[in-house]
Amino acid sequence: MKKVFSALLTLFLILALSSCTAMPKESVTETSGSSETQTTASAKETDITQTTVQEEGARVGEFDFKTKTVMLNSGYKMPVMGLGTYSLDHDTCVNSVKALLGSGGRLIDTAYMYGNEEAVGEGVRQAMKEYNIAREEIFVITKIYPSQFGNPEAAIDMALKKLNIGYIDMMLLHHPGSNDVEAYHAMERYVKEGKIRSLGLSNWYDKELTDFLPKVTITPALVQNEIHPYYQEKDVVPFIQSKGIVVQCWYPLGGRGHTKELLGNETITAIAKAHGVSSAQVILRWDLQRGIVVIPGSSNPAHIKENLDLFGFELSDIEMEQINALDRNEKHDWY
Ligand code: NAP
Repeated sequence: MKKVFSALLTLFLILALSSCTAMPKESVTETSGSSETQTTASAKETDITQTTVQEEGARVGEFDFKTKTVMLNSGYKMPVMGLGTYSLDHDTCVNSVKALLGSGGRLIDTAYMYGNEEAVGEGVRQAMKEYNIAREEIFVITKIYPSQFGNPEAAIDMALKKLNIGYIDMMLLHHPGSNDVEAYHAMERYVKEGKIRSLGLSNWYDKELTDFLPKVTITPALVQNEIHPYYQEKDVVPFIQSKGIVVQCWYPLGGRGHTKELLGNETITAIAKAHGVSSAQVILRWDLQRGIVVIPGSSNPAHIKENLDLFGFELSDIEMEQINALDRNEKHDWY
C-alpha cells in the first residue's frame, strides 16, 4: 500500500512539474491574458509605427483605390488611370480628351512628339466648360524630346503655349539623350516658377536612373516605361518604386498592332470571363494591383469609358500570378 501511495505521489509530482514547464508556451497561445496582451500590444505598435510613417509622407507611391489617385513625391495627387494620346490626330484627340473628362477620367498623357498638345489643351478647356470641371481636378502630362534638349526653355515655353491650360501638371524627359541633365535642370527652374508642378522621366531604366538621380535636385515623381503582360519589367518596376517614384506604363495593351494578340490571350480572356469584364479591363486592373498607373490610348469613347471602369472587381492572387506567368520579355518598341 505504501509502495502504491509513493508511486502515485511520484506520478503526481512528475505531472505537476511537466504542466509547469508547458505553462509559458500555452499562456502565449491560449490562456494567459498578460502574454496575449503583450503580443497584441507589440503588433499594434508595429501597425501604429507603419501608419505614422505613412502619415508623415511614406504614403508616396501608395494607391488609394477609393479616390483612384496616387500621392506623388512632389506632394501632388495624380489619378491612377487616364488616357494616352499617342497617334491621335487633332480632332480625334479633342474628342478622346472630352470623352475621358466627360466619363470621370482626369489624367491625360501627351508629348511634343505626338503633335497634339494643342488638341489636348482644346479638349481640356472645352470639357472644363461643358462639364464644369475645375482645372485643378485635371492632370496633364507632356514631354520634351531629346531633339529639344539643346534649348529646353524654348521647348517648355512652347509646350505651355500649345497646351494653354495655365500650368503643366507634369513634364517628362521623353528619352535619355545628350544634354538631358541640363534639360531637367531647366524643368526644375520652371517648377520653382510654378509653371510646371511635377517632373518625371520616360524610358529610364535601373542603370539610367542610378546614374541620373545624383545629378538632379528634384527627384522625379514618375517614370513612364513600356509595360504589358508580355513585357512586365519585374525587376525594373520594384527598383523604381523603391525610390519613391511612381511607375506609369505605356503600351499597356501591347500598343497598336499587338492589342489583338494580348486581348485575345486565353489566360486573360478566361479571367475576363470569370469577372464579367473585358480583357482590356483585366490587363489594366493587373497593372493597378502592381501599383502601376495606366494610360491606355484610345480614339473610341466606349473604350475610354470601359478603361476607367476598373474598380468594381479585384484579381485574386492566383489570377495575378497567372498573368505574371505570361511574361515573355517581349518589347514592342525599340526604346
Ligand atoms: P495601348 O494603350 O497599348 O493600345 C492602344 C490601342 O488599344 C488602340 O488601338 C485602341 O483602339 C486599343 N484599345 C484601347 N482601349 C481598348 C479597349 N477597352 N478594348 C479594345 N481595344 C482598346 O498603346 P498606346 O496608346 O500607344 O500607349 C498608351 C499611351 O502611352 C500612348 O497613347 C502614349 O500616351 C503613351 N506612350 C508613351 C511612350 C513613351 O515613350 N513614353 C511610348 C508609347 C506610348 P481604339 O482607339 O479603337 O480604342
